[in-house]
Amino acid sequence: MEIPGKKISVIGAVRSGTGAAKLIKRLDGKPFVSDSGDLKKLEKQIKILKDNEIEFETGRHSDKVYDCDLMVVSPGVPLNSKVILTAKEKNIKMISEVELASVFCKGNIIAITGTNGKTTTTSLCGHLLKTCGAKTYVVGNIGDAFSEVALEVKKDEFVVLEVSSFQLDLIDTFKPKAAAILNITPDHLNRYENKFENYVYSKFRIFKNQDNSDYLILNKDDKTINKFLSPHESNDLYFSLNEVQDNGCFRLNEKIIYNKKGKKEFECDVTDIPIPGEHNIANAMAAISALKIFGFDNEKIKEGLKTFKGVEHRLEFVRELDGVKYINDSKATNVDSVWYALRSFSEPVFLILGGQDKGNDYNQIKDLVIEKVEKIYAIGSSADIIFNFFHKDVKVEIKNTLQEAIISANKEARQGEIVLLSPACASFDQFEDYQHRGRVFKEFVNNL
Ligand code: ADP
Repeated sequence: MEIPGKKISVIGAVRSGTGAAKLIKRLDGKPFVSDSGDLKKLEKQIKILKDNEIEFETGRHSDKVYDCDLMVVSPGVPLNSKVILTAKEKNIKMISEVELASVFCKGNIIAITGTNGKTTTTSLCGHLLKTCGAKTYVVGNIGDAFSEVALEVKKDEFVVLEVSSFQLDLIDTFKPKAAAILNITPDHLNRYENKFENYVYSKFRIFKNQDNSDYLILNKDDKTINKFLSPHESNDLYFSLNEVQDNGCFRLNEKIIYNKKGKKEFECDVTDIPIPGEHNIANAMAAISALKIFGFDNEKIKEGLKTFKGVEHRLEFVRELDGVKYINDSKATNVDSVWYALRSFSEPVFLILGGQDKGNDYNQIKDLVIEKVEKIYAIGSSADIIFNFFHKDVKVEIKNTLQEAIISANKEARQGEIVLLSPACASFDQFEDYQHRGRVFKEFVNNL
C-alpha cells in the first residue's frame, strides 16, 4: 500500500479515525477527516487533528471526501449510509482502520472477535503475554486504535487486537498469526440486513487471509460456529468446556488442559482462573491457546492467570462489607449478559436491574432469577416493566436511583450473600454511559 503523497479520506473522526489519520500523516500521505457529527461532541478529536495539522470537516460529508485515492471507514459508519454508497458508485477503494494498520505492522497479530467476551479475552491475553515478558500492545475496540502503535511494533513483538465485525467488513489483506472467534449469537443484525448469516460470515472474515502458517482458535461448544464454519487453510485449535480436544484447550475434572496433536502441553486448575463464571473459563481457554501457539512458558502463563484482575465493569469485585460481596457488572447491557452473570454465583443475589429498555425479553432469565435472586431492585425508566414482569415470582422493589437501591440492598443482604449490579439495560436514562453507571456504583459502595 503506497501512502506517500496519496489523498486519503477518513470517514469518522472518533478514536480509530483519528488514529488512522495520524498514521497516514506519519507515512507522508494526505489525510482528510470527515465526520457528520457535531463539532461540540468531537472537541477532543478535533484538538488532536489540529495538533497534528490534519485537515478535517464536521457536520457533513462534503464532495471533497470523494476526491481521494483511498477511503478509510470508521467502524461506526453504516455500510448503507450515503457517503459509503456514493464512494462505491465512484469505485473508490474502501478499507477499515484495522486493515490500514495491519499493513504497516511487523509484529505478531493475535486478533480476537466474537459476540461476547472480546474485551475480557483481549485484556487477559495481553496480561498473559506481558507476564511472559513479551513486549505487547493491546489495542482495537478495547482502547487505543491499532493505527496508534502499528509503526512501533517490532518483528518479534505482539499486538493483541480486539476486532469487531464492523472492522472486519472492510479488510482486504489483514492476516493475523492467531485469530480467535469466541462465540456468535445474534447481535447488530440491523447492520446486516437482519440476516444472521451475514453477521456470521462477517466474523469469519477474520481468517479469510490466513494460511497454513497461521492459527484459528474456535469455540467447540458454539453451535453457530460449528454449523457455518467455511473452508480455510489455517490450523484449527478448539476450546471446549465439555469435550476433550486433541488440538486445543478443554476442561476436564476441574483441570484446564491444552493438547497439541493429542499430547498434553499445559495443565492448570480451574481455580487458577480468578475471574468468575464458566464463560470466563471459556475466555481463558481461548487466551491460553493463543499463548501456547507461541510456546510460552507454562509457569508464567499460570502466574498470569492467577494475577489477572478482570476488566472494569464486567463482574468486577468491588468490596466485601459485613460478609456481603458487591459486584459491578454495569457492562451487562442486555439480558444475555445477566444470564451469564447469575450463572457465575452460587450465593443468593440481591440484583439491581433496570435502566433504558432495549425491548428486553426477560423470559430468557426468568427461571434463573427465580432460582438465584432473593430480591430485585428495579431502577431507571424500565423499572415498571421489570416490576410487572417479575413481581409474581420474586420480591421486587422499585427504587428511584441506583444509590437508593444500594442503600436498601446494604440493609437487607446478609453475610454470604451478593449485591449485584447487572442491569440488562442501557444506562442513558440516568447516566452518561455504562462506565459512568459502574463508577457511581463503585464510589457509593466504597463509601458505605
Ligand atoms: P465484549 O467486548 O465482546 O462486549 P466483554 O468482555 O466486555 O465482551 O463482556 C461483556 C459482557 O458479556 C459481560 O457482561 C460478560 O458477562 C459477558 N461475557 C463475557 N464473556 C462471555 C462469553 N464468553 N460468553 C458469553 N458472555 C460473555
